[in-house]
Amino acid sequence: MTVRKINIFANDDAYSQEIRELLQRKLQQSGFTVPEKFAPDAELIISIGGDGAFLRTLHKYEFPSIPFLGVNTGHLGFFQEIHPDELDEFIFLYKQRRYNIQNLKTVKATVKQGENRYEYQGLNEIVIKGDHATTIHLNISIGNSFIERFSGDGILVCTPAGSTAYNYSLGGSIVDPRLTILQITPIAPMNTTAYRSFTSSVVLPKELAVTVHPEAREESGFMIIADGMEHRHSSIDEVTFGFSQTEVKLMRFEHYDFWTKVKTKFL
Ligand code: NAP
Ligand code: MN
Repeated sequence: MTVRKINIFANDDAYSQEIRELLQRKLQQSGFTVPEKFAPDAELIISIGGDGAFLRTLHKYEFPSIPFLGVNTGHLGFFQEIHPDELDEFIFLYKQRRYNIQNLKTVKATVKQGENRYEYQGLNEIVIKGDHATTIHLNISIGNSFIERFSGDGILVCTPAGSTAYNYSLGGSIVDPRLTILQITPIAPMNTTAYRSFTSSVVLPKELAVTVHPEAREESGFMIIADGMEHRHSSIDEVTFGFSQTEVKLMRFEHYDFWTKVKTKFL
């Protein structure tokens, strides 16, 4: 008989931990194995918490190709598909394979600094900001065309799945995840007689990359923030943002509808 392994991760909240134990027991009673540590050969990863907990699990295990199911324990829970009182229903449907997989696109950024290269990946977004309170200046190209010298706090490059997160707070558009586009949203752009920057988001097709050449200033570093996780660079020569081949698989049930989710979470 094949061993059917399911990885479970929960955030540190007492309630999430309680749900984790309950779910583990229920899965074991249904014949599944729940490994103590991350098992790369598991058939499913269950993340208990909010979107933040799910994003941290995704990054910790470097965007595994195993499908994820999110159990929401009292946060916004945009990625989280089920509520803790639906565990039995989930196991029932899962055993009958009555679910759909939503494939979500990811964004990547390559940072060049002298001879060094750093790769970052995001399911929601990747942001470049200054490490200090001063304005940063970014020379931005789209494809091979130079577009603008941006001045402000920074820029955000998001996927459709990330369009409802930080991007939305910045005035960016909500994008249906069935579209394959990247959205570039300015963060506090300056648009004065001294500085000229686009003030709205720009939407790009998947084959176009965005290249950013930050202007180096003394003692000014940069932060690259991928899905809320900060990475500091004392200087950056170039950052290229583009689509990544990696997709994240999310388990969704029959009733899932992106726009219903938007409505129930935002309106
Ligand atoms: P956080 O600062 O604790 O939470 C930000 C909020 O965004 C949480 O309510 C989170 O949901 C929600 N969220 C995450 N992904 C979402 C998505 N795709 N659509 C709609 N809402 C989403 O940080 P976190 O929980 O670790 O999440 C990281 C994300 O926070 C980043 O990827 C970034 O998009 C977002 N963020 C937003 C702002 C802002 O809006 N001003 C600033 C910084 C970062 P849960 O409550 O379920 O965790
Ligand atoms: Mn959170």
